[in-house]
Amino acid sequence: MKEFHVETKCIQEGWKPENGEPRVLPIYQSTTYKYDSGEHLGKLFDLSAPGHMYTRISNPTVACVEEKIASLEGGVGAMCTSSGQAASLLAVFNIASAGENFISCSTIYGGTVNLFAVTMKRMGIEVRFATPDMTDEEIHALFDEKTRLVFGETIANPALEVLDIERFAAIAHTHNVPLVVDNTFATPVLCRPFAYGADIVIHSTTKYMDGHASVVGGVIVDSGAFDWEKSGKFPELTTPDESYHGVVYTRDFGNAAYITKARVQLMRDLGTTPQPLAMYILNLGLETLALRMERHFENGLAVAKYLEGHEKISWVNNPALSSNTQYEKCQKYLKGKSCGVVSFGVKGGRDAAMRFMDHLQLAQIVVHVADARTCVLHPASTTHRQLTDQQLVDAGIGPDLIRMSVGIENIDDILADIENALAQV
Ligand SMILES: *Cc1c(COP(=O)(O)O)cnc(C)c1O
Repeated sequence: MKEFHVETKCIQEGWKPENGEPRVLPIYQSTTYKYDSGEHLGKLFDLSAPGHMYTRISNPTVACVEEKIASLEGGVGAMCTSSGQAASLLAVFNIASAGENFISCSTIYGGTVNLFAVTMKRMGIEVRFATPDMTDEEIHALFDEKTRLVFGETIANPALEVLDIERFAAIAHTHNVPLVVDNTFATPVLCRPFAYGADIVIHSTTKYMDGHASVVGGVIVDSGAFDWEKSGKFPELTTPDESYHGVVYTRDFGNAAYITKARVQLMRDLGTTPQPLAMYILNLGLETLALRMERHFENGLAVAKYLEGHEKISWVNNPALSSNTQYEKCQKYLKGKSCGVVSFGVKGGRDAAMRFMDHLQLAQIVVHVADARTCVLHPASTTHRQLTDQQLVDAGIGPDLIRMSVGIENIDDILADIENALAQV
């Protein structure tokens, strides 16, 4: 059958009921499964038969959502996690161990910076940051024999830098390591990073995928395209796993080696498992993802254009603005569209920014982004508070930066709210 379009996949992929079964994805709220024979369960433990064993590792409700997201991204398999943070951790830890290092773009989510620079350092894994102004030569110089992957965000939160995916894929592949892309802000509706050479995609599903600010979650998707054996740098995938008496992931699971190892080894051991009920809620969000992204884009661009013409605004950042430095990459990678996030500076700096936020009524101050409701945040004093001044600069965040996540309400109401708040600054 011909591959469905993204709008259709959002609705139809995943749960495929048999005759007489529920039409809507059921919530299998069960930690355990029943077997006809001990022998069958033994095979499950040996990974020689497919099936569910224990919900920490897999569950039918969760599996349907994984199938849907894998299909949306065009990957061979996906694994949902309890949060986006868990997805980032597992995606890296699956192929990098103590004594090894990886390269990350510096313009990434503040929580990921902490995870990489502080917590993973304690695990003995070193991150080396590539800033947006670095040349290819300077980035190549960050690699050594122990470098295991490259990491970046399709649309960086909150700097809104668009990742030149082909460029970073080429750099990573020169060193025989994969490119891992956090596609949270773009979603597969705006960009499918695998089409440009990315090897692994992750998401915080907490954001647009759920889209209603209801459940925290994450996902890792495997393209199946990276050749681990040919690379020669990943013995954890190409030699026997002692915790599974001899399983060799590349030999036994082919192009699903990476995602299989992430599940049966890391999810088994670290237990950052999503709950079936949470995945049911995520699935409801996914059904309308394509529809919502269109409106987020339209409303976000309208807000950006309005702010651009306002005398009290010093600068506006949204990749879909024709004046934006990211505009060309936006045309290439995002179909000329963007998500609903707009960042800008209010003239008068930090104090003016705070006053503006306090006078908004429809747009509320919340520590969230990318859901149906318009909301606003000052990253330098909140989400990115732990970052040093230099890390803030590297992440593209000034003290006056306001991040507005434009929702899917009527645009006239959103603009009226902004106009009213600006009048009081
Ligand atoms: C929020 C976010 C994360 C972390 O996800 P959680 O679900 O909050 O753990 C990772 N990456 C990006 C781009 C994010 O916006």
